Amino acid sequence: MQFFDRLLLENRAWADDMKASDPEVFQRLHQGQSPSALWIGCCDSRVPAEQICNAKPGELFIHRNIANLVHEDDANVSSVLEYAISALKVDHIIVCGHRGCGGIQAAVSGGDALQALPYVDKHLGQVKRLVADHGVELERFSRLSEKVDHVVELNVIAQVERLSEMKLVKDSWEARHAPSLHGWVYDLASGHLDEVCLHEVGGAQGELAEQSWQRAAAG
Ligand SMILES: [Zn+2]
Repeated sequence: MQFFDRLLLENRAWADDMKASDPEVFQRLHQGQSPSALWIGCCDSRVPAEQICNAKPGELFIHRNIANLVHEDDANVSSVLEYAISALKVDHIIVCGHRGCGGIQAAVSGGDALQALPYVDKHLGQVKRLVADHGVELERFSRLSEKVDHVVELNVIAQVERLSEMKLVKDSWEARHAPSLHGWVYDLASGHLDEVCLHEVGGAQGELAEQSWQRAAAG
């Protein structure tokens, strides 16, 4: 059987299973969506957002790009953010990186690794700057994989900080004290998600108080 035939066949089996366990599921999903969170993850085929946290259809609004980056001048991710925050009014934004990320590794390796991939190269510009800014810190790692995994965490923290500075996010905090911003890292070797940072906004009587923590990046 061809790969794509298998996918189409599996789709019918999946839909049948879904209906068997919850007969109204598709009627309900057909009515509309109200996801609790926006997930910004990497495109990597080994990090399927819903599967790794057992989320159901309708629970996560998802955007994926190489190395899970937020660019304010990228209409793709910006439109997703705008819709998730202003229309869907999600309560959480999760930026999820993963150890062993090929995009991060390309940025860390530098040189001509990205010469044949000009779009990827341009997209990863901010990661290359992050690597340059942490050059001294990265020297203490002898193995490339350790450097990469360290930058994976730094990158997730940088994306959460970037989100926290966006007008769209600040306006939403002012209006409804949400969304909270979560930085997570997925470990391909164990299948586990780890929290690396959290930024949330709360407060009573109209006071806006920002709270955040971040784990010292591993290493
Ligand atoms: Zn990746």
